[in-house]
Amino acid sequence: MENANKVSDLGSHLLRSLVLMVTEDCNLRCEYCYVRKRPNKMDIETAEQAVDFLFSVNRVCPDILEIGFFGGEPMMEVGLIDHVCCYARDKAGQIGSRIGFAMTTNATMFSDYGKRVIREHNIGITCSLDGMAEIHDRFRKTRSGQGSFHFIEKAIPFLVGLTSVNVRMTVMPETTSEVVSSLRWLINKGLKRFSLSPVIEARWDGKGLGHLVDAWEGLYSLQEEFKNSGVVINNIGKVESLLCSPDSRGYGCGAARSMAAVDSGGRLYPCHRFVGYFRNSPEQSIGDVFKGFDDQKRKNYITSNLVANQSGCGAGLFDDSTMPPDKKCNTCLLQRVCGNSCIALNEYLTGEPQRPAQINRVLSQIVMSTHIRMKSGLELSNQLCK
Ligand code: SF4
Ligand code: SF4
Repeated sequence: MENANKVSDLGSHLLRSLVLMVTEDCNLRCEYCYVRKRPNKMDIETAEQAVDFLFSVNRVCPDILEIGFFGGEPMMEVGLIDHVCCYARDKAGQIGSRIGFAMTTNATMFSDYGKRVIREHNIGITCSLDGMAEIHDRFRKTRSGQGSFHFIEKAIPFLVGLTSVNVRMTVMPETTSEVVSSLRWLINKGLKRFSLSPVIEARWDGKGLGHLVDAWEGLYSLQEEFKNSGVVINNIGKVESLLCSPDSRGYGCGAARSMAAVDSGGRLYPCHRFVGYFRNSPEQSIGDVFKGFDDQKRKNYITSNLVANQSGCGAGLFDDSTMPPDKKCNTCLLQRVCGNSCIALNEYLTGEPQRPAQINRVLSQIVMSTHIRMKSGLELSNQLCK
């Protein structure tokens, strides 16, 4: 494969971020969750070995390294998180390296000790919060099927006081019509940074997609309205950086390349989502923290990542029967920005990491075409013509 040459040298792909699945269990049972819950948790030896592994493959990396905590709900293992942070900081000090921490959490288990751990280790937080009570509770449920909003509501003042908090809003077809009102509500609570994530695996019909178009237009209006209040909607910035990047046809994300995830037993995967979808599957594993990377399998995923992003919405590579050869990507206005780079989702839905599912292409095209519509005029024309 032509692109395989570009990843022949793994030395150019330094691992900078390792995500530890400290538990595969969770106190919630959100209906759209892709993590298969098990009572498995990471032991201290495996966690220390994971930290040692990150430092051992980065002897020459000048950048700050990052350890992420993921689950299930990682705060169920807050003692382990505290230990790993101390261990990793000691280790970084010994070898003159730098380390930072991040965590994705449902923010429903913030004890005083948990809050202290987050503050002391300066852990950057991504918290899952879909909007006001009636929206959040629609899919984010407790084990007994009750809404979980009243738990996270108590955590909002703490979250607002932290220096690094990103709110991840998961968007389902049923909640799409309330995205803008939810976002406004969260902004009024003092939260400032947001990432919206439509659930690709959900059932999107014409009505849901119509609401999604309206919602995405609304993001641009909100960003404009609150631009002087420090509000950042990451989805908009991501498209803008793709438009401005001279290499927007490079790798879509860091999976297998600059990041990897380790499951509770020590197996390595290209990213956290692979663990959720393919836990215990040796096929998707790219090694383990005891013996190290399986270089060939890692390389295969890096190649898939490149191909997935370069194939855009998929029309150019995969829809041969529906599109004449001279009308594939080269005439499309979206061609510089429409990469479908989530190789985890691709593999889960189509069986091939580089092949996007049809719905993924539709959602991607809505996001990109909305951006172009909302930013149309001289500013965008200038960017596209550069
Ligand atoms: S809180 Fe997160 S891990 Fe737990 S069920 Fe909900 S989405 Fe899944
Ligand atoms: S493969 Fe998908 S889920 Fe994993 S890091 Fe890349 S974009 Fe994110």
